[in-house]
Amino acid sequence: MTAAPDSDQIQRIALVTGASRGLGKAIATQLAADGHHVVLVARSADAIEAVAADITSSGGSVACHPCDLSDDAAVDALLEGVVESCGRLDILVNNAGITRDGLILRMSDEDFDAVITTNLRAAFRLCRAAARPMMRGRWGRMINIGSVVGVMGNPGQANYAAAKAGLIGMTKSIGKELGGKGITANVVAPGFIGTDMTDALPEQLVKEAVAKLPLKRLGLPEEIANAVSFLASEKAAYITGHVLAVDGGLLS
Ligand code: NDP
Repeated sequence: MTAAPDSDQIQRIALVTGASRGLGKAIATQLAADGHHVVLVARSADAIEAVAADITSSGGSVACHPCDLSDDAAVDALLEGVVESCGRLDILVNNAGITRDGLILRMSDEDFDAVITTNLRAAFRLCRAAARPMMRGRWGRMINIGSVVGVMGNPGQANYAAAKAGLIGMTKSIGKELGGKGITANVVAPGFIGTDMTDALPEQLVKEAVAKLPLKRLGLPEEIANAVSFLASEKAAYITGHVLAVDGGLLS
């Protein structure tokens, strides 16, 4: 159950999926530092509680909601629980993502569906559920974490690229539908960022990719969090339907 925020100093109510590690942990930490109450979501309760303890010790306001985003009923209960306990939802960051890589000739239906379910369908269902409370508040920020792969494709990632490209089309459509209600919808598209996901890639592949980047290094999770923090802020009020690549120049 999501605990209610206990301070009247809270700026906004934010929900970050995939907040147990990597980019999601950095995004949640930054949004809490910005003064928002942040609901942390991932499957591992222990892992989000550890992130919550760090945020709390730095003076942030946080709650944990373990949830498997591939379970429709659990996703419905997640949003209902947050709105019930916090009274509203202002910022939604769909960051949780998985990979099930394989060349197209060998990619199974299960691996295609698993990636679409977690990376795209869950984001769709959360955006849909968040739209009503955001419309009630006449303010909202939907920020979906895509990937440069959703723009340029990548061998071995037909499922992942389809999900991330789908996020872009979905986000642009939502931005057009809800702009009149004070709600913006944008995509942050990371390039190669140092996390468990990139640690799983062959070292040589990462080395070669980094050598081709204008900025010649992996990105930091905090650099993605900075982009999300900006898009979630008042300063980004006139930006919607945008794909912000944070990629060391990969797409440039
Ligand atoms: P990690 O693998 O480090 O973390 C993934 C997060 O998603 C974890 O918190 C995991 O928690 C959560 N998650 C996975 N499946 C589910 C599920 N079914 N239900 C709930 N939570 C789930 O990934 P990164 O931090 O590297 O990536 C974060 C996002 O950024 C992803 O969408 C990824 O595609 C994107 N991205 C990352 C890049 C990079 O270079 N790292 C580059 C481009 C895009 P748990 O296992 O506890 O459920």
